[in-house]
Amino acid sequence: MTGVAFDFLAGLPRQPRLLVVDDQAIQIQVLYRALSPDCQVLMATSGEAALRLCHERLPDLVLLDVEMPDMDGFELLRQLKADPVTREVPVIFVTGHTSDDVESRCLEAGGVDYISKPINPRVVRSRVKTHLMLKFQSDLLRDMVFVDPLTNSYNRRYFDQRLAVEWARARRSGKPLSMLMIDVDHFKAYNDHYGHPAGDEALRNVVRAITRHLQRPGDTVARYGGEEFACLLPETDHAAALTLAERLEQRVREQALPHAQSSVAPIITISVGVSTHRTPFDGNAQALVDAADGALYEAKREGRGRARGDAELASVRG
Ligand code: GH3
Ligand code: MG
Ligand code: MG
Ligand code: MG
Repeated sequence: MTGVAFDFLAGLPRQPRLLVVDDQAIQIQVLYRALSPDCQVLMATSGEAALRLCHERLPDLVLLDVEMPDMDGFELLRQLKADPVTREVPVIFVTGHTSDDVESRCLEAGGVDYISKPINPRVVRSRVKTHLMLKFQSDLLRDMVFVDPLTNSYNRRYFDQRLAVEWARARRSGKPLSMLMIDVDHFKAYNDHYGHPAGDEALRNVVRAITRHLQRPGDTVARYGGEEFACLLPETDHAAALTLAERLEQRVREQALPHAQSSVAPIITISVGVSTHRTPFDGNAQALVDAADGALYEAKREGRGRARGDAELASVRG
């Protein structure tokens, strides 16, 4: 008989991605056979390889062997927890040692569960399913906590978290990280003239223009404050971020939303400040936000309806 007939994917919003880590290929095979009919299964035979896969593919759940020669399961979990990119990934320990002591060490280390060898495929499937449900539920709750109800974009809380994650990632990879701070021009006058509900609608339109034009999956648009929006742009250098900022400014103009009270144009415009981290990283992601704010201030001062980069990085523009 090959497993029970229960609908593994029922109630899950998409196919889950698992990572199975074990130094013995035969153990991986057993788990692979139990789980691959329902899940995408990634495999690693060392802690190093597992860390790399966690970063590149961000699994929904990790099944982690406790006993491995170079880096054991406890050390691997410690490293996953220490990194904001991988901190939330749930880990189920798999071990050949069945004692109360090992079990409590697994749970104290932050594992969500514990499975002992030899593997019973039905037990594994049930436990994995339970933890995937929990994982997807907590993802959903997190999404609700992180979405701005007016514009349906992410909120500042989410932006701050993404910033911490992307900062850590960029620091490790050495790749550039840029951000934009966007502010609607003369928006107080807009509200005064057209009314607050029209102002709300205008904000939704501005977000739409921005979001539609940011197409890379890693890019994040968030409502940072009242009529301010922040975009986080991983793997984007200063010149590319500035070009993008100018295009966004253009896209908002193309919407041609009337703004009779603006000194910039008779339509809604935005000002954009662009910043890019400097190497070596000084460990402070807030510096990126401050620099974008500074550049935004310059864009406003120079007349609004434009994008400005970080003056000290201007030379990179060729
Ligand atoms: P500047 O060009 O210098 O940015 O001028 P401004 O008038 O846009 O700047 P200020 O910061 O003085 O005003 C921002 C205004 O944005 C104030 C507030 O009425 C409006 N605002 C903030 N949040 C919302 C919102 O959720 N809905 C609406 N309708 N208006 C908002
Ligand atoms: Mg082992
Ligand atoms: Mg403002
Ligand atoms: Mg404004």
